[in-house]
Amino acid sequence: MDNFLKWTQDNEQSIEKSFVWKDTDQFQLIVHDTGVLEYKPRTVSNEQVILSCAIHGNETAPIEILSNIVQDFYYEKIKSQKHILFIFGNPRAINIEKRFCEENLNRLFAGALEGKSSNYETQRAQVLINCVESFFKEGSRKFHYDLHTAIRDSEIEKFAIFPSAMDKNVDKSQLAFLSDLGVRAVIFNDGEATTFSYHSAKLFGATSYTIELGKVRPFGENKKEDFEQTELTLRQYIDGTYKHHTDLDNIETYIITDLIDKRAESIEFSFSDTAPNFTSFDKEQLICFNNDGDFIAKEDGSKILFPNRKVRIGERAALIVVAKDLP
Ligand SMILES: [Zn+2]
Repeated sequence: MDNFLKWTQDNEQSIEKSFVWKDTDQFQLIVHDTGVLEYKPRTVSNEQVILSCAIHGNETAPIEILSNIVQDFYYEKIKSQKHILFIFGNPRAINIEKRFCEENLNRLFAGALEGKSSNYETQRAQVLINCVESFFKEGSRKFHYDLHTAIRDSEIEKFAIFPSAMDKNVDKSQLAFLSDLGVRAVIFNDGEATTFSYHSAKLFGATSYTIELGKVRPFGENKKEDFEQTELTLRQYIDGTYKHHTDLDNIETYIITDLIDKRAESIEFSFSDTAPNFTSFDKEQLICFNNDGDFIAKEDGSKILFPNRKVRIGERAALIVVAKDLP
C-alpha cells in the first residue's frame, strides 16, 4: 500500500486489525481502520488535532487536500510535532460519488446513533466515534477541523460553524487562523447538534469547527486556486511554520436565530432551489411554507443556510442566521 486514499477506497468496509503503515525514527503512521490514519510523532506532543473530510462522500476538494498531505507524510516531505488523526469519513459514498449511501453521516454523532438500525453510515459513525475516543488523551490541547464543501453556491464562499455560544471567551487567534484558511464568516451555534464537530467539542472539549470550503465538484474538477490558500495555511499549521495573524477585519460573525425543521413532504421555500447560502431576507418576508405554518423572517438581514427540501421529515431543512459582532 503506498496510497492511503486509494487503499481506503479499495477497502470501503471495516478492516479486521489496525496496522503500522510506516515506522521511522521520527514518527509512525498507524492505520486504525479504513479511512482512519494516525500520525504519531516520536516526541509526543501535547497538541492533538483531528483533520477530517468526506463525512459527505462527494465533497472532493477536502479529500484531495488531506490526501496530498497524508502522502507527503508517507514520503517524509512534511513533518509535524503535532499528534494528528486523519479521517476520510465515508469511503463507500466516495466510491459512488454521493453525499451518503443510506443516511447523512453528519447527523449520527453526539448520541444520535442510539436506537438507529444498522447501515453503512451508522457503522462508520461507530468506527469514527471509537477512533476519536481512543485518540484523544486526557489533558491534551484538542482541535478538530472537519472539512466540507457545500451543495449549493454561497454568497460567502468559505465559512465555518463553531458549535459554541458567542461569548467573551472566544479564542480570537482561532478566528484569525480560520481567516488565514480563507474563511470569511463564522457561525456560532450554541444549540445542540448531532454533527461530528459538535461531538468532539461536546464530549472531549475540543476546539472544533465544521468548515465549508466552497462548492461540491467531482474529483478532477476542483480549481486549484480556490483551495491554495487553505492548503498552504493548513500545511504551515501542521509543520509549525504558521504565524498567527491578529487581523479579524476579513471575517464576519453570525449567530443562528432559527432552525426550520421539515414538517411535511409538501415543504416549499419562497426562493429557488439555486438560491445561494447567505441569501438575505428582510423582516416579515416569507422564507418557507411548512405544514405547521409559514416561516417569516423575524428581522432584517436574516440569511438562509443549507436549505434542503429533500431531507427526511423531522430533519433540519434550513438554518436562519444573522450577523452579530463579537462581544
Ligand atoms: Zn458536507
